[in-house]
Amino acid sequence: MPGVEPQAARDGAAPQGSIKTYDVIIVGAGFAGMYMLHRLRGLGLSARVLDGATGVGGTWYWNRYPGARCDVESMQYSYSFSAELQQAWSWSEHFAGQPEILAYANFVADRFNLRRDIQLEARVTAAHFDEKTGRWRIETAQGEIFSAQFCVMATGCLSTAKLPEITGRESYEGATYHTGYWPHEGVDFTGKRVAVIGTGSSAIQAIPVIAEEAGHLTVFQRTPNYSIPARNSPMTPDYEGPWKSNYDLRRAKARTMRTGILYGVTDETWGLNNVSALDVTPAERQRIYEERWAVGSTAFMASFNDLITNQAANDTAAEFVRERIREVVKDPVTAEALCPYDYPIGTKRICIDTDYFETYNRANVSLVNLRETPIEAITPKGVRTSAGEHEFDAIVYATGFDAMTGTLMNLDIRGRDGLKLADKWAGGPQTHLGLMSAGLPNLFMITGPGSPSVLSNMIVSIEHHVDWLIDALAHMRANGLATIEPTAEAEAAWGQHVNEAGHRTLYVKAASWYMGANVAGKPRVFMPYIGGVGVYRQECDEVAAKGYDGFILTPRDARAVAAE
Ligand code: FAD
Ligand code: NAP
Repeated sequence: MPGVEPQAARDGAAPQGSIKTYDVIIVGAGFAGMYMLHRLRGLGLSARVLDGATGVGGTWYWNRYPGARCDVESMQYSYSFSAELQQAWSWSEHFAGQPEILAYANFVADRFNLRRDIQLEARVTAAHFDEKTGRWRIETAQGEIFSAQFCVMATGCLSTAKLPEITGRESYEGATYHTGYWPHEGVDFTGKRVAVIGTGSSAIQAIPVIAEEAGHLTVFQRTPNYSIPARNSPMTPDYEGPWKSNYDLRRAKARTMRTGILYGVTDETWGLNNVSALDVTPAERQRIYEERWAVGSTAFMASFNDLITNQAANDTAAEFVRERIREVVKDPVTAEALCPYDYPIGTKRICIDTDYFETYNRANVSLVNLRETPIEAITPKGVRTSAGEHEFDAIVYATGFDAMTGTLMNLDIRGRDGLKLADKWAGGPQTHLGLMSAGLPNLFMITGPGSPSVLSNMIVSIEHHVDWLIDALAHMRANGLATIEPTAEAEAAWGQHVNEAGHRTLYVKAASWYMGANVAGKPRVFMPYIGGVGVYRQECDEVAAKGYDGFILTPRDARAVAAE
């Protein structure tokens, strides 16, 4: 039979020499890879998930640093695809910690019997498209080779941790950690002199917890960050109950929102105040900010409808947060150093915290403002700034990720005519809908650059991409189609659309990892699509409804003929 053809081998690899053959290879066993596997089974396709980790969970497997937790509340930062799963799982807090989210990922793996098709400790190094066979040849660092008609990169947007390029880093003799590769056995900082380098979301979560344990904690800050209190608290039946009994409605609504998140459920605005910050009196604006601040969470950024598009509106929110920092932090010099000024609030992923600014009032915590005294080197004993050397027992690098493109570009991915993804993307990622890249047939990305991904509740975006792909594969099977890939024209048009959408906002004013600004030499391109989760869904639906407009779909026979 032509088209998307299930392999005979359902229960594991079908040996073909030493090459293991599947319909689909999925790289990554995080939330994206696990859901993709689940849905592929429904389609009757054989699939193997490969992940370099020793467990499932992706982000939540790797990022085990103290204080790690979600910034989208757990009733929403969870799968929606199974009503039974939604009812069966209970979160203990509004914003669950990493151990609980990892436990949830494992619960899903067991409940849907996913493990038998997940191969751990299998780090993919290469994926090459073979034009003759129309299949992907996938290699792992462990020396295995797989062949698949389709390859799904569920490799994550934040899965390649980045160590800073600081002179002498290797010379340090104490213990070093990166938040994104935290040791499974945990770290005992009791009584230790600890440095944290970085003040992004990871650091903002880790600093208050490490401070409680450390003898002394020194935070090295280059750019201060806006952070909103999470106001995390134990889950209560009063909160959980209405969510569980209204899940269908609420999830459906969330999928239409810009961020895929509901900020409130008590009225029809779902927490988005659809008013300009400049159309209310200063007193009313203050009241609204205070109300949101008291409730906490990223809902603060939904206080008004123009905070990410209008600088003057944004300034009012930014100044409100700076006032709170000055209020909380007792030492005025430290408070001022912690106040962000040089980028609009919300244009780096807004942080939410538990006692972050309060932590600077502790006697055992000090802040080094790298704007005044930059790091000159890491020394065998610690960190040397222009003001002198600080000695430490441990250095924690909370220095982020080569986000969105790093993981894919580090892989040796080659499409038609040996086209290397890393070469193609050297000037910035090029995709159609953030799902595929021209010249790489049957290679899909879940939450790839050019999709809302990191600007959203990522589980909403993951489920959307997987569902769209499953529909595309079903379409291919129904129509005897063997390959799908975007046209160069559709890809260029989408890239322009993504770029224009980004430039209609204030996001492009920040030197953020969204812009590739945290990696030396990376092109400054606004990588995610800011059009909004709801709008983007419609755009993807329209493409599918028009017979996959902008994609080339090749019948199996035609492809075989062309290859001959
Ligand atoms: P990941 O979870 O990153 O999984 C990718 C997997 O691919 C990993 O297991 C990795 O080992 C594997 N992999 C990568 N390359 C290879 C290779 N070459 N070979 C084999 N395996 C490979 N998003 C939110 O929406 N809300 C949040 O609250 C939130 N909190 C976050 C907190 C932290 C600390 C971080 C780092 C990110 C957070 N995110 C959050 C984003 C988060 O990454 C996503 O929500 C989601 O977990 C991504 O799932 P994924 O399956 O797409 O990717
Ligand atoms: P990040 O936001 O990129 O922050 C990295 C920090 O390290 C920044 O403060 C950066 O300073 C600093 N840094 C990097 N190199 C440095 C150097 N050479 N010297 C001094 N400082 C340096 O990384 P992250 O905190 O890991 O977060 C990444 C993303 O993961 C977040 O934006 C979010 O999407 C996700 N995340 C979410 C949560 C959550 O709340 N659920 C938690 C963690 C992560 P500069 O700003 O000056 O470059």
